[in-house]
Amino acid sequence: MRGFLKTSVTNVHIPRVFIDRAITLSDVITLDGPKAHHLCHVLKLRNADPITIFNGCGGEFHGTVAEIKKDQLQARIERHDPVSRESQLRIILLLAILKKDPMRQALQRATELGVSEIRPIWTQHLSDGKSQSARRFEVWQSAVESASEQSGRTQVPLIAEPQSFQSALLQIQSEPIDLRLIAHLNQSPLNVSSEAVIPMASLALAIGPEGGFSETEISAAVDAEFLPFSIGARILRAETAPAALLAYLQTRFGDFSI
Ligand code: SAM
Repeated sequence: MRGFLKTSVTNVHIPRVFIDRAITLSDVITLDGPKAHHLCHVLKLRNADPITIFNGCGGEFHGTVAEIKKDQLQARIERHDPVSRESQLRIILLLAILKKDPMRQALQRATELGVSEIRPIWTQHLSDGKSQSARRFEVWQSAVESASEQSGRTQVPLIAEPQSFQSALLQIQSEPIDLRLIAHLNQSPLNVSSEAVIPMASLALAIGPEGGFSETEISAAVDAEFLPFSIGARILRAETAPAALLAYLQTRFGDFSI
């Protein structure tokens, strides 16, 4: 499902499309592939219909359909709106790699919840084989792009190359991040009054696979200055956990508290 955003002025749904290229005013942008197919044959866009395009370089561009060919659509850019719908809290998600569909759901929800960067990690209790996940990058990229389009985001979260949990810990430890968290069962609720920098600019959150993190991984994370915590007493599925945990963190430190 690709993205729409209801405009407050006209109350119509205008399709939003992400493209990974520079855009300038009065450009004519050619869209092809699955995005153009969806716009032409599912949404049945016609000449002069409005369309919104963004490229992650700031704001979004409004234009209209200039021409439709079989599986190709051309859009004329008419106006730039410098709007941002990004959270001021930079969240880096260390996400255990899940099987294809749960991973896609986890990535979509994390994007809707405003994550800035996703670093897929191989953990001890692997949910999916390394060779399968190495081939899934396109599926993952498509999940975050369509979730950004749908949710009105003006950025698409970056997805890093999959790496071992240990190397992700080392990388995060060397970066200037205000708070490092690891979500794990049967821990205390988050108590950050002594640890956190307020207002917080950045945090890293690690979420485990279906089998959870091993105790060795939790110890390694603690050594790398991660704080283990739980939310509530229930076990969330691995694809539910990103949405619940990110909503909680955006409420405490990010733009859900505005
Ligand atoms: N049996 C596993 C275990 O013992 O950890 C359950 C793993 S759970 C399905 C997948 C991941 O979601 C966990 O590793 C954790 O990161 C996160 N998670 C699930 N429920 C949570 C909760 N209530 N609090 C914090 N994190 C949670």
